[in-house]
Amino acid sequence: MKTLLPTSTAGSLPKPSWLAEPETLWSPWKLQQQELADGKQDALRVSLHEQQLAGIDIVSDGEQTRQHFVTTFIEHLSGVDFENRKTVKIRNRYDACVPVVVGEVSRQKPVFVEDAKFLRKQTTQPIKWALPGPMTMIDTLYDDYYHSREKLSWEFAKILNQEAKELEAAGVDIIQFDEPAFNVFFDDVNDWGIATLERAVEGLKCETAVHICYGYGIKANTDWKKTLGSEWRQYEEIFPKLQASNIDIISLECQHSRVPMELIELVRGKKVMVGAIDVASNNIETPEEVADTLRKALQYVDADKLYPCTNCGMAPLSRHVANGKLQALSTGAEIVRKELLK
Ligand SMILES: [Zn+2]
Repeated sequence: MKTLLPTSTAGSLPKPSWLAEPETLWSPWKLQQQELADGKQDALRVSLHEQQLAGIDIVSDGEQTRQHFVTTFIEHLSGVDFENRKTVKIRNRYDACVPVVVGEVSRQKPVFVEDAKFLRKQTTQPIKWALPGPMTMIDTLYDDYYHSREKLSWEFAKILNQEAKELEAAGVDIIQFDEPAFNVFFDDVNDWGIATLERAVEGLKCETAVHICYGYGIKANTDWKKTLGSEWRQYEEIFPKLQASNIDIISLECQHSRVPMELIELVRGKKVMVGAIDVASNNIETPEEVADTLRKALQYVDADKLYPCTNCGMAPLSRHVANGKLQALSTGAEIVRKELLK
């Protein structure tokens, strides 16, 4: 990336109200069949345009073509039964009625590759594409076939690698894996979680990122955060192994979180997407607040490796708030860029 402090978002952005119920997470589609297919493409164009207007450097599809960041991917795989669901606890936090693994999982055809090609045609800017990570995928399912979290994770890693290679061929510059589960299951992360993630990026020449956050601003997550104490040191458990991994970029939650900034020192040498926008609040940060977070992060990340970003996806926010936050991110990054170039 030639731009200093290139800005991006962690992933999802609000959908237009004609496509899905606004300000609702995992909201069902309002259109069907061809109208839905066309509507998703139109929404992707709008989302891209809003990122461009705000001056975002690394753009994305805003996840306009998916309902859920994990299940939309899994829906395209065989071996998973979406009809007869079972209730499990997601990330040890909230109950969800989830699909069941009933046979060997495999990818019959590409999932997001056509969407990525469509985005690639709309812009010459660097593009980032998000996929769920293997560990977060298994945590969103009931496994009635492999009976091993690790085994299923390796299977998903192989499938993700097939998809990632095709996304790379479609012109994606950064492939990001969303692994909020990394903040919960530390022993598994260190035993096989990072290894399966490395399997997912095997052979890729484009840049790779892992997004580890404390989740969307939904009640189950904000309640959980209240139990974490005055300092959130979850990252500390997994950073040493991540630092030694071959993942290029680590995407973190830093704005208004209680993560001690000095933990970033543990991944020194990696590129870091520093979350400088709180997605669990409707207050739009001032550019100065964003700049302040970035300045703090600069104590632990070299300037050429710092990528200003949002804490997490912004799908549940209103478009007005999300656009304001994108603008603040961009203006805040510009303040610090100027200071660095003085
Ligand atoms: Zn997130």
